[in-house]
Amino acid sequence: MEKVRVRYAPSPTGHLHIGGARTALFNYLFAKHHGGDFIFRLEDTDIERNIEGGEASQLENLAWLGIIPDESPLNPKPEYAPYRQMERLDIYRKYTQELLDRGLAYKCFCTPEELDAEHERQVEAGVAPMYNRKCRDLTAEEVAAKEAAGIPYTIRLRVPANKTYEFDDMIRGHVSFESNDIGDWVIVKANGIPTYNYAVVIDDHTMEITHVFRGEEHLSNTPKQMMVFEMLGWKAPTYGHMTLIVNEQRKKLSKRDESIMQFVSQYKEEGYLPDAMFNFMALLGWSPEGEQEIFTKEELIKEFSETRLSKSPSMFDKDKLTWVNNRYIKERSLEDVVALCRPFLEEAYDLSSKSEQWINDLVATYHDQLSYGKEIVSLVDLFFTDELNLDEEAKEFMKDETIPNTLKVFKAQLENLEEFTKENIQACIKATQKEAKAKGKMLYMPLRIATTGIMHGPDLASSICLLGKEKVLSRLG
Ligand code: GLU
Repeated sequence: MEKVRVRYAPSPTGHLHIGGARTALFNYLFAKHHGGDFIFRLEDTDIERNIEGGEASQLENLAWLGIIPDESPLNPKPEYAPYRQMERLDIYRKYTQELLDRGLAYKCFCTPEELDAEHERQVEAGVAPMYNRKCRDLTAEEVAAKEAAGIPYTIRLRVPANKTYEFDDMIRGHVSFESNDIGDWVIVKANGIPTYNYAVVIDDHTMEITHVFRGEEHLSNTPKQMMVFEMLGWKAPTYGHMTLIVNEQRKKLSKRDESIMQFVSQYKEEGYLPDAMFNFMALLGWSPEGEQEIFTKEELIKEFSETRLSKSPSMFDKDKLTWVNNRYIKERSLEDVVALCRPFLEEAYDLSSKSEQWINDLVATYHDQLSYGKEIVSLVDLFFTDELNLDEEAKEFMKDETIPNTLKVFKAQLENLEEFTKENIQACIKATQKEAKAKGKMLYMPLRIATTGIMHGPDLASSICLLGKEKVLSRLG
């Protein structure tokens, strides 16, 4: 097999979206599975839509996920460079001239107004809008005269009649399109810049791309690209069109959908772990053979097979994402998790009076249940507030008549403590059980609610220790 070369080719029109990240990820896994190369190419020909810093942000977020391109604008190979389309205009120009010379493309002088009017007419007449080929057969003299008059023009491909374009999609199987359904499309815009469908062919060929995984929105572009490959006598790569990512209501993700954080940077900012994101995204539209769900990057590379890419939309399951993240956080050392949580704690609370040991103990208490770094802020709120706001259920529970005595006994126990340690507090709980004759739920629940304000939480003795003697005694009334 020839060396596998795949590419992720974003337009720098925005930051790394989870859809784009998944596309990059599957291309990456496929390349690495086959010992091939993963290339990053910038498709920046839509100059009005490009944003400042778009390329850097894409690359940085990919790197955060652990997807480092073998080749990119920052890491070029001379035989394939440059890697930004706007730096490749000379390359496109050469092939455009060839297509014009061979009569496979032609200059179109129709104005945008004329084209719009024609489009409207066709829509009104109920026919599929398509370029009416007005400029298709202009004579060389007519073309020369229009050019001499300085009339702007686009260049269109002369789409062959009665041809079927078919291919075996790695995900969808056999797909075919009729050329008669495709109008003579623009390959070079009036500003001299090629369109996506045209530039992509020249790039995929000259960069020796062997396989392409991309979003299903590109499926209908494929026949257009195939005709250019054919005209230039080149072999098209093998394509795989991935299905949509949908939200929990099974709706296609729209940019405005706020039910899901859609940009990779948002996950980074909220303290998700990159290896967990990598794992989670690999399961967005791909499934392994067995039941296993937690995979290292190396395992994913080994297991990946394009034959197991899903044909149906993949749901972005937020609960699964937090579950996967929690699994990864649990595996991390306490030191790592403290480092992950610290910026969030610092931003939310005044830590100036807290010792390093206290912060470590605080994070340790939540280490096993934490799903993402920022979550620590809401979990530890009770250690930073003076007022406890009990919910109705807790208030109801505290009405039991045995409770005041249990709390009194416990308070007396704690008051006598010389050292306010977790072990000693645990001993006080035990002593309270005996002395107040409270056990099980009637022991732990009142102590927990009275000291922390919540009915369910981490280890009680640890929580009480973190709260500190003074605060606990005052809460016990
Ligand atoms: N620039 C295109 C996009 O961002 C790439 C499509 C392709 O992979 O061919 O959707």
